[in-house]
Amino acid sequence: MLKSHSCGELRKEHVGGKVTLAGWVDRRRDHGGLIFIDLRDREGLVQVAFNPEISEATHRVADKMRSEYVVRVSGEVALRPPGTENPKLPTGDVEVIAREAEILNASRTPPFYINEDVEIEENIRLRYRYLDLRRPRMKENLILRHQVVKFIRDFLDARGFIEVETPILIKSTPEGARDYLVPSRVHAGKFYALPQSPQQLKQLLMVAGMEKYYQIARCFRDEDTRADRQPEFTQLDLEMSFIDEEDILNMFEELFLALVPVIKPEMRLLKPFPRLSYAEVMDRFGSDKPDLRFGLEIKDLSDIVAQSNFSIFTSAIAGGGKVKGIGVPGGAAYTRRQLEELSRLAQSFGAKGLVTITLGESAGGSLKDLTLDKVRSAAAKFLTLDEVKAMAKRLGASLGDLLLVIAGEAKTVNTALGELRRELGCRLKLADPKVLAFAYVKNFPLLRKNEETGRWDSEHHPFTRPWDEDIPLIDTHPEKVRGRHYDLVCNGYEVGGGSLRIHTAELQRKIFRLLGYRDEEIDERFGHMLEAFEYGAPPHGGIALGIDRIVMLLAGGETIREVIAFPKTQSAVDLTFNAPSSVSEEQLAELHIRLREE
Ligand code: ASP
Repeated sequence: MLKSHSCGELRKEHVGGKVTLAGWVDRRRDHGGLIFIDLRDREGLVQVAFNPEISEATHRVADKMRSEYVVRVSGEVALRPPGTENPKLPTGDVEVIAREAEILNASRTPPFYINEDVEIEENIRLRYRYLDLRRPRMKENLILRHQVVKFIRDFLDARGFIEVETPILIKSTPEGARDYLVPSRVHAGKFYALPQSPQQLKQLLMVAGMEKYYQIARCFRDEDTRADRQPEFTQLDLEMSFIDEEDILNMFEELFLALVPVIKPEMRLLKPFPRLSYAEVMDRFGSDKPDLRFGLEIKDLSDIVAQSNFSIFTSAIAGGGKVKGIGVPGGAAYTRRQLEELSRLAQSFGAKGLVTITLGESAGGSLKDLTLDKVRSAAAKFLTLDEVKAMAKRLGASLGDLLLVIAGEAKTVNTALGELRRELGCRLKLADPKVLAFAYVKNFPLLRKNEETGRWDSEHHPFTRPWDEDIPLIDTHPEKVRGRHYDLVCNGYEVGGGSLRIHTAELQRKIFRLLGYRDEEIDERFGHMLEAFEYGAPPHGGIALGIDRIVMLLAGGETIREVIAFPKTQSAVDLTFNAPSSVSEEQLAELHIRLREE
């Protein structure tokens, strides 16, 4: 190599030794006669001193060095003069006294500081991603990602899993998003679809007798990009034969209990991972991916207010709906504007309105001391003191707190309160950033009514096995059929999902029909699966974990773009390559494509 050591590894024990280093100029300081540079490579930084009395020629080279120049330096490691050590740097006790130096390549002035962790507009970072990745935080994220994936591979290898690659050019394998299509040159008018996941392929590997498969797999879904979504993303995809749900859930619990202490020892896990039903998480947290690092649980208040004089509450209950709420610690101090903001948030998630009830003005004192004149709420004149106190008690609130109450159809009430809970959890900083609160959510309904088309959609995907005892309901009450589907959630994110699968052609066809596919369509799109199921398909199931999201949570980031080397923007553009881009007429002609005038 062009270097004998890495910059970041030099310590006191290297003093007196001769080293050759190569890296980037992180900073250059000219102290009259002496020039210092901080030389950086992947392993860290070290100070290099250029003294004209030691080598004038070398000093002249250093004089030309600028930030981000690539240089090579040889010299001796020496203790820094007493009083000039830098305790913040792991190499801060030593410096390299340069004897020779060479500029390997110059650099234009970078468009942003690489040596300072400052906010930089994301589009500029993405445009110059190769410079952005030189920044220590981003480099650490990529190293973390590597460590996580390596840990997973070793963990699964030790349990008898084999990694199998599956094709990227394939046919639609649906996960509920739009497909990315690739036109075929050889077969005019035909297209490959990029897999939304290797779902069908891994199931076919089970039919093939692989028994334990995994893959660090790229998936492609053409859907709106968000902080936790990219058009292409990476899954730990896994499938096993001859198992039950708990075999998979236990194994992944073990994986995280082993991985986190090794890779992020400063983070705490809540264990064991709770298993919650879909109905329960919706009821208590208003979300199928709740953040369990804090309480603020949603409670049903219907029984307390059913006989009240407040018609908004009583009519909702009479109409089969619910009145539910959450208690916000210290919320009595919120301004009218803040309350209106919360109200708008609730309405944007479908609530007709938000009833706010503040209990007294300031914290302290017990609920017993509450009087109606201290209750601030549009509903106050319709409620008795006992009713307010009973609601407060159920919501764990006392003087100085705020009650947020919503009445209406249960699903909307839960969702809107769930969003309020999430927002307040953030505002009140209730979630400990050093905690990972994993949980499994189970017992999802198999199907969801698509309000637009009026058809049934799969809650997970069409290969999910229904509970055996619910199979007779498929024809009569599809909405009551539960799927053997489970999600892994953590800190408010869905980090994984999977299911036991259907493994008989007959049941699989029945589900496809229920989803509104005609028989010809089923045969055309999924005939290969139905056929495979007729050749001794074992019972099987699996899961897929979002690697990007997991690494994001471990890195303490807020978007998966921070842990992907070359991510796309919110509008699915790669700014470094400027993709997608136009292609030539010749290329289009070869692919038998003529662009339409929009
Ligand atoms: N293929 C599923 C997904 O990507 C996961 C699974 O069912 O294993 O969500």
